[in-house]
Amino acid sequence: MKIDFNGLNVLVTGGTRGIGQAVVTGFLNEGAHVIATGRTTMQGLDSKRLTYHCVDFCNDLEIEQFIKTMEKAQIDVLINNAGINKIDTFGDIDIDDWKRIQKVNVEVPFLLCKRLVPKMAQKGFGRVVNIGSIFSHVSKEKRGSYSTSKFALLGMTKALSLDYAAAGVLVNMVSPGFVDTDLTRNVLTADEIKRLVSTVPVNRLATPDEIAKVILFLSSRQNSFITGQNIIVDGGFTSV
Ligand code: NDP
Repeated sequence: MKIDFNGLNVLVTGGTRGIGQAVVTGFLNEGAHVIATGRTTMQGLDSKRLTYHCVDFCNDLEIEQFIKTMEKAQIDVLINNAGINKIDTFGDIDIDDWKRIQKVNVEVPFLLCKRLVPKMAQKGFGRVVNIGSIFSHVSKEKRGSYSTSKFALLGMTKALSLDYAAAGVLVNMVSPGFVDTDLTRNVLTADEIKRLVSTVPVNRLATPDEIAKVILFLSSRQNSFITGQNIIVDGGFTSV
């Protein structure tokens, strides 16, 4: 099945690395105009159809300026991918870390959806994919802040999908298992990753590309009837 994004404007948050970078590459390969965000720089990607915005999702002023720009950008597809994690036993969670994680993982996706989805609905077409996690479906010790944010994002996905389904805007979540990215390597040691891999039925980490292709399908015109769903891409981890 050919997935075609010609003529569509796509916004991918957190496009500088990992899953986001694979998603940006996928959309560019299929003809989209892509706006990507991050706090650093885009590396290894060069296209006339790519625009980069440096914006820190912990900074209210930068967030507001960025959303105002996006309101004028005629966004057809929104991928809320930027996300952060910090693991701590519940009693040791620093409230500022907790707030920062909710801000990047939930509040910014909420604001982007609230301001951009009604504009998609006015045009009669839109797609949103929020990037969740297996920890928006199950949880694990030391995932208090992260699971809170990702379960919230799932609730938001389902509620939002119902408000705009009849207007042609389909809203879904893709929830990766363990993916070979900086986020995984920053949170876990090499030994912990090895132990983890032995608990994944397919016996390896996912590649960012394997997550990106599911995101691309849900974002496409070819997805015409899936909305409000959470697609878990975890190599069987949560089926055990
Ligand atoms: P990475 O850590 O590799 O990349 C995170 C991206 O988010 C980067 O582009 C980064 O930009 C951006 N970002 C981080 N903090 C901020 C901030 N304060 N403001 C703006 N942008 C920010 O993450 P992954 O690719 O691994 O993860 C992507 C998504 O997938 C996240 O939502 C994550 O929760 C989810 N996920 C990942 C899994 C995994 O195993 N890796 C598993 C399940 C879910 P920059 O580098 O420029 O700062």
